[in-house]
Amino acid sequence: MKKKWKAFIRAIVFVAKDCPAVWPVTLLTAALEAAYPYINIILSAEILTEITSSTRDMERLLFLAALLVTMEFLGSCCVQFCSQLLNCLQYMVMAHLDESVVIKGWGMDYTLLCDPKIHEQQNTISHWFFWKGMVAMITQFRRLIGALVSIGISVALTVELFAARAAGDSMGARLVNHWTFPALFLLFFGLSTAYNIWSGSRFQKGTYQMEQDEKAPMNQAEELMKACCAEYQRGKDVRIFHAQGMLLGKFQELCEAIVGSRKKAKVSFRRTLVLSELLSRIFGIAVYLFAGLKTLYGAFGVGSLLKYTGMVTQFGDGIVAMVQTIDEMLQNGSYLADYFDYQDTKNITADAALPVAPEIREDYEFEFRHVTFTYPGAAGPSLRDISCKFRKGEKIAVVGRNGSGKTTFIKLLCRLYDPQEGQILLNGVDIREYRYEEYLRFFSTVFQDYHIFAFTLGENVAAESDYSRKRAARALENAGFGPRLRTMPQGLDTQLFKNFYEDGVELSGGEGQKVAIARCLYKDAPHAVLDEPTAALDAVAEADIYQRMNQFVQGKGAIYISHRLSSCHFCSRILVFDNGTLAETGTHEELLRAEGLYWKLWNAQAKYYQEERSEKSHRRRRF
Ligand code: ADP
Repeated sequence: MKKKWKAFIRAIVFVAKDCPAVWPVTLLTAALEAAYPYINIILSAEILTEITSSTRDMERLLFLAALLVTMEFLGSCCVQFCSQLLNCLQYMVMAHLDESVVIKGWGMDYTLLCDPKIHEQQNTISHWFFWKGMVAMITQFRRLIGALVSIGISVALTVELFAARAAGDSMGARLVNHWTFPALFLLFFGLSTAYNIWSGSRFQKGTYQMEQDEKAPMNQAEELMKACCAEYQRGKDVRIFHAQGMLLGKFQELCEAIVGSRKKAKVSFRRTLVLSELLSRIFGIAVYLFAGLKTLYGAFGVGSLLKYTGMVTQFGDGIVAMVQTIDEMLQNGSYLADYFDYQDTKNITADAALPVAPEIREDYEFEFRHVTFTYPGAAGPSLRDISCKFRKGEKIAVVGRNGSGKTTFIKLLCRLYDPQEGQILLNGVDIREYRYEEYLRFFSTVFQDYHIFAFTLGENVAAESDYSRKRAARALENAGFGPRLRTMPQGLDTQLFKNFYEDGVELSGGEGQKVAIARCLYKDAPHAVLDEPTAALDAVAEADIYQRMNQFVQGKGAIYISHRLSSCHFCSRILVFDNGTLAETGTHEELLRAEGLYWKLWNAQAKYYQEERSEKSHRRRRF
């Protein structure tokens, strides 16, 4: 509970800081909305009183009618204007919230980002943005303030109703003037409000539970929706493998889970809702009768009867709205707490304070010292007791079978994960001690699963919107993308992919890799890391790229992971990984002489190429 209140206060402050106009506009809108129905109630009552009066004053009657029409018109305009303004402000808050979630996600440690719990938190927060959390809190405040204003006016009218005394000394007049009526009124009012609060809190708990139950299936259903139709790139496999049936089945399963949790919740809530509704209606009828009796015994005129009965409806609605809104606010506290939990997720990397001095770029050495690493949730380590050193100017090749730990090795080097055992050192200092942002600037990378954004080509190369066009064009040229660039009429401004633009250009796998390599060249960091950067390129293009890369990394450090061992020839040293361990290390010649794993892999690939070559010449002879 304390956590919810804390979240509540933080949310109010957040909104006030983010968009200072929100709270005053909420207050004004709510007050206007609540007061608006009373214009009609009070002025109609006055008009009716005037009509039924024996000393009817036509001038006053006309004035009241004109006042009613004018006030209703002006009131309606003001309510509409404020309501639309508030809606606009709420969208602004929502956009900023969305932004804050994304910014937090970008700044989060990579390990946390891979955590399914964080993924679910992000999905849930963005899914509920308008219905729950901070934006909903503004709507709730609007309703609560409105309810309070309405109750306030109604209380004033209620006091007036009880204060108006029936004339005469008849039995009926004495009865309606008796103090037991206000006492009964208060008692009934207190009881029905208490019941409403109790049933509302049950409802609130049930709703929250229901929403928790349907959170996971809802998020998964959304992902599936994207996979099925929203992202056209994924549509290929769906069609070729006729996966529609399987996807639809899974989608239906998820929808059934969502509907099931709703059905279950509804059955248990229905009874309390019916009783609460019944109580407020009985209360309304009682006040109706009481005001009617007072009119009969001459406490006030027919016009006032209209005013008091109108007031009863507003009073009842105000009470129900207040109780429901307080319930919703309590429930919403959990969503606010979810949001702040996400925002408060602490980065481990944030603690490091040591700057990466510029001199380090001039002369550096990395050392893996007995490094062992297990992925979160994995059964066993992906890397075991890895020890090796490499320094500026060295070109290191990392080879090994699939799953032997090559990519994990570079992920640790780039500090996307921290090892559980051992240390990675840069110039003798544990990399965990360096400022994370500065440490990351040390690397230019091309990962296997590089990502090309649906932005312009130039933005993809520079990873920013304000970039040097000359450098970007040169990087593309050096990455072997030059001929393709020259076919693009809009050059660097060519929009990639068709997600947002009809004339967006699709890239082949090889072209995409070249753009990723160009991004790596553009960054011009001291150390290049390339994880199978040429997997989608043919052997000629690969040789060409490696040659260009070699020129670029002259004097810098570089690590290459490649499945084609022939590409590693030019590297000064080769690290051979096997099943999470560093099995061998040495130059190409040394490793061949040792006749170990590298030698085996080399011979296997050489055999494959020889077979391929003899197959081709055989075919040539036949045709
Ligand atoms: P390589 O690059 O040599 O093909 P990886 O370093 O990608 O191998 O993977 C090494 C091992 O770690 C594999 O067994 C793989 O299944 C496992 N692995 C890779 N990424 C993850 C991850 N995010 N979570 C759990 N295990 C992973």
